[in-house]
Amino acid sequence: MNTDHLYGQDTPRKLKTLTAEEKRVIIDKGTERPFTGKYDDFFEDGVYTCKQCGAPLYRSGDKFASHCGWPSFDDEIPGAVKHVPDADGQRTEIICNHCGAHLGHVFSGEGYTAKNVRHCVNSISLQFLPADSLQQKAYFAGGCFWGVEYYMQQAEGVLSTTVGYMGGTKAKPTYEEVCAGNTGYLETVQVVFDPRKTSYEKLAKLFFEIHDPTQTDGQGPDIGQQYVSAVFYANEQQKEVADKLIGILKKKGFNVATSLRPAATFWKAENYHQDYYKHHQKLPYCHTRVKRF
Ligand SMILES: [Zn+2]
Repeated sequence: MNTDHLYGQDTPRKLKTLTAEEKRVIIDKGTERPFTGKYDDFFEDGVYTCKQCGAPLYRSGDKFASHCGWPSFDDEIPGAVKHVPDADGQRTEIICNHCGAHLGHVFSGEGYTAKNVRHCVNSISLQFLPADSLQQKAYFAGGCFWGVEYYMQQAEGVLSTTVGYMGGTKAKPTYEEVCAGNTGYLETVQVVFDPRKTSYEKLAKLFFEIHDPTQTDGQGPDIGQQYVSAVFYANEQQKEVADKLIGILKKKGFNVATSLRPAATFWKAENYHQDYYKHHQKLPYCHTRVKRF
């Protein structure tokens, strides 16, 4: 599931058409019956977004079992939830800071957790997104994978990087086989990133700035088919982004040689290639960052 669209702060969010029961709670500020909501007794890893507009509101790490009958959180995602005096003159109502959807009420001083706060939220006001669906993968081949990994793992929002091989057909290729230059495999870096903190476009731009996308026979001093420049796109959206960036570079006069190819099986490289520069405390000989955008 692609959730990029959820996180752009300035992007207008499309509001969901609500069912009658959703409207009763979200618009008319009703309350669902206790112990009936979908997320009351639910503790999976992920993020809770606003049912109406999709804005991220709560993290699963802040959810706790209050046994009060509604999902309870002792913290909110910063800036996501607005606290307003309730019409009853007593309680504090919580609403989505983006679209104003009614969420529930917030209480303090009850002693449930160390933070001493309880956001008491109607399940029906929320939509849960599992953690797995929030991570995305990108695959870049730009010469020696040690250097590409070195830069990618320092980028904001990158959760992990792995070096390996993509593009060939033989199962379980070894470094020696790939080095022969005739397997079809390219030295490739798998980048796992959090789209709440970065975007595919940012990472792809970085990719085009840490290697020379105009070199046709390899990268830097590393010559051979296994070192050529390629973006292995994991979905159509990634393909469009990479294609757009190549178009921008071409307009700027770069004769881009980078090929766009659909992602295939990624074979992890031998352990001694992983985090190479980190382990050896050296700087890449093969890659430097050059501003191109
Ligand atoms: Zn909202």
